[in-house]
Amino acid sequence: MGRVYLTGAGPGDIDLLTVKALRMVREADVIIYDRLANPDILQEAKSGCEFVYVGKEDSHHILPQNEINEVIYQNALKYETVVRLKGGDPLVFGRGGEEGIYLRRRGVEFEFIPGITSAIAVPEYAGIPVTHRGITVSFRVVTGHEASNKGQSQIPWENYKTDDTIIFLMGLHRLGTIAKKLIEIGKPADFPVAVISRGTTKDEQTVVGTLETIVALAKDLPTPALIVVGEVVKLREELSWFEV
Ligand code: SAH
Repeated sequence: MGRVYLTGAGPGDIDLLTVKALRMVREADVIIYDRLANPDILQEAKSGCEFVYVGKEDSHHILPQNEINEVIYQNALKYETVVRLKGGDPLVFGRGGEEGIYLRRRGVEFEFIPGITSAIAVPEYAGIPVTHRGITVSFRVVTGHEASNKGQSQIPWENYKTDDTIIFLMGLHRLGTIAKKLIEIGKPADFPVAVISRGTTKDEQTVVGTLETIVALAKDLPTPALIVVGEVVKLREELSWFEV
């Protein structure tokens, strides 16, 4: 029986892979990877390493999670070193916990290898610190996937009234609802918002606006993209460094 490494691939820029993740990618007998893991990382694998793509889109999953779990398990029966490579960090909206539980219940040993999460690194590449002394005392990372305008939203919007920085992952398609809900709970219409698309890659694009204007400004941005809401967005004027 093999050992499974539930590994974070970082947010896009291949240089943001950890040393530990790179070492396991080089040792792997099989690498099971996502759409959000930069495929250039696979070039680091040893010859003969098998690659299994279980790509996942923001909203429609190419393979359902229970099938991905089973693919990982079957590979652990076959190979000694199994790397499960996931975008960002495996446990930040990465479902790495579900994969770990599935393996544990079947007696397969695993390790988590943390990755640099897009939630922090993507704003950072856009020159937006998620915290800044004198401006914020907290930041919150939320799934935008659950945002719904029809009363069935699973997001407890009222709790976010006093939040400083809010980062929405998987929220681009629900940006209109998110902006509307935040105004409804009392955020000013001119509150700063940034949408960052394909962060940390050569295709990175950032659009800055307000809760009122952001939908029109960001509508054509490609995924993956995340949304940053908060006064920290304004710091980009002085801290922008990556995009040319
Ligand atoms: N585990 C991942 C997040 C998975 S959820 C992590 O820790 O980063 C997928 C969401 O992450 C996307 O919908 C998008 O909102 C965000 N995301 C991932 N990579 C991104 C990138 N390079 N640029 C912008 N957003 C990104």
